Parts: sequence; structure tokens; C-alpha cells
Amino acid sequence: MKRAIKLLFVCIVGMFAFACGGGGGGGGGDDASWEYVYQHNAQYYSGYTWRWNVSTVRVAANGVDSAVVSSAFNRWSSSSGLGFSVGSGSSGNIVVSYGSLPAGVCGRAIAYVSSGRIVRGVITLRRNPETNCGYDLRRLITHEAAHSLGFMGHDSEGIMTPNVNSDTITGQNYGFFAKLYSVPPLTYVPALYKEKQYGKKPAPPRGTRVFTEY
Ligand SMILES: [Zn+2]
Repeated sequence: MKRAIKLLFVCIVGMFAFACGGGGGGGGGDDASWEYVYQHNAQYYSGYTWRWNVSTVRVAANGVDSAVVSSAFNRWSSSSGLGFSVGSGSSGNIVVSYGSLPAGVCGRAIAYVSSGRIVRGVITLRRNPETNCGYDLRRLITHEAAHSLGFMGHDSEGIMTPNVNSDTITGQNYGFFAKLYSVPPLTYVPALYKEKQYGKKPAPPRGTRVFTEY
């Protein structure tokens, strides 16, 4: 009994330093995950993480089927721990609508970032993706949703391929959001994995950064 209390105490204290039982720069797999977070998020922000810092993200399905929007966003819920409240209209943290896009582009996600926090997202979709893009609306929104939640760049397989030619959320995709949302905004990622060499931490970016991804 006493021992259990002591263990619990160590765990609570540990939570302030590391995610208890999780992070802390453990084995090679953990390093690989942090490197992936670096590649797809932190490298665009002087090495620091940027992410939503709310428990529930309000998503406005503005002229887009809200059931499909909800279904797509919720595919990222278990990995990120984020809740998504989807309504119709134009008021929300992330607004999803149809609009004109450059030739050959099926979707675009813009994230506005201030002090490591995504403060606003705008997703624009090509109409009738089944005809114009060769895959369905839910798949397109799932892909753009990932960008609007902090994923930059693309993968060679799965839902985050440039042409979205798979509907699969890969283990890496899942791990990306699990890791990114396990630490506060403005966590300096190179300090979290062994392979990354770094000297002095740079200052975090100032002002508002706008990230656009397709
Ligand atoms: Zn993309």
C-alpha cells in the first residue's frame, strides 16, 4: 500500500518532466517518432512544435456535408486526443468550404500560427472530388484536416501521399499526432531525440506564421 503510494508519487512528479510512461527520449522507436514530428511540423517553426491548444476544435462545415466533415476529422481524434465539434455555417476555428483552387489542386489547408498555437484554419475543397480527383470527399477532408492540425509535407504511402491515393492512416501518421499532442506547443523537438545534433536553442518565431499545404 505504502509502496503503491510512493510509486504514484514518482509517477506524478515524473509527469512534469516527461509524459509518464511515454516520452523522455527512450528507445530508437521513440527517436524515430520525434524525428518524424520534426520533419512534418517543427522544422517549419525553428524546431518548435506548433499545434492546437484547445481540447475541442470547432469546425464549420460551410456548404459542405457536415456529417462527412465530422467523420473525416474524427479519424484524427484518437491519436491527437482532440475533440471536434462540427456545425454548419461559417463560424469556427477551422472553416471548411468549396472554392476555386489552382489547376490540379483538389484541396488546400491554411493554418495560422501564433506563439506555437494554431489559432485559425481554412480548408478549401474542389467540388465533386469523386469526379475531379478520383477519390471521395471524406478522404480529401481527412487529408486536409491533418494539414490543418499541424502536419506539413507528404508521405510516400497512406492518406498523406500528395495525390491522396490511399485512404489508410499509417502507424507513422497516428504516431505523429500522438507525439505532437503529447507535449505543449513550443516544445523544442531536436532536444527530444538523440540523432539530432543541435547547439543553442534558437528563439521561437514571433508574430503570426501562415502555413499553406495542399
Ligand atoms: Zn497534402
